Amino acid sequence: AILVLQDKTAHYKIFEMRRDFIANASHELKTPITVIRGFAEALHENPTLPVETQMEVTNKIVRNCNRMAALIKDLLTLADIENIPSSRLTYFNVADLAEQCFSMLAEVFPDAHVTIHKSKEDILLFADMDLLELAIMNLIENAAKYSNRPAHIFVDLEDAKDNVIIKISDKGIGIPPADQEHIFDRFYTVDKAHSQKMGGSGLGLSIVKTIVEKHFGTITLQSELGQGSTFTICIPKREEEK
Ligand code: ADP
Repeated sequence: AILVLQDKTAHYKIFEMRRDFIANASHELKTPITVIRGFAEALHENPTLPVETQMEVTNKIVRNCNRMAALIKDLLTLADIENIPSSRLTYFNVADLAEQCFSMLAEVFPDAHVTIHKSKEDILLFADMDLLELAIMNLIENAAKYSNRPAHIFVDLEDAKDNVIIKISDKGIGIPPADQEHIFDRFYTVDKAHSQKMGGSGLGLSIVKTIVEKHFGTITLQSELGQGSTFTICIPKREEEK
């Protein structure tokens, strides 16, 4: 007689994580739909509303449509980065990429001050450039979003012996110690109302972490409430890059 004992803890943990993810995603999508339907019905039932009220209501409808579109984009990104085909990996200069991200940020936060420091002119990395761009963009956008204006953001790029290190710091509102261990979880936000006002749904940092991990790297956070935050990405180099 053979008795087989199997530890199914990990299996149930994955099952629970999936269930929570679907519940969270559905809830996040349901909220704007409910708001849009409510306002659309109000417009339909009151065709003689004053123009200012109509403008207010249609503005809210558009804002909620944008929120839903941003959420769907994040959900699709999360699904897309589960498998990165090796054909998407190329050599590129991280310093150039950081400059590019800064120009894109300037369109949304024109008053933000960004200082880029690099340990040398060309810092080459073999990675998925579009995804690295998305990770850096998410971090510098957060740095601007969660700072009093004008934001002061520092990007530090280091070509170390075995790794490329990308450090993004701000002098913003900081993250309370109790929230720091959950900050990379999907849908986690410190202040839901503030996050929604800034167009976020708590998926940004989990996307960044997944991108970094798909490149066998790590991401860490140091933050002090009221002083600012630093996110440090460390991506190992390939043998031939060392
Ligand atoms: P969101 O879409 O809400 O910005 P993220 O996953 O990017 O979602 O971030 C999760 C939460 O972490 C945010 O809601 C915010 O409270 C906090 N956070 C992220 N980056 C920073 C930062 N640079 N400074 C302060 N708080 C931050």
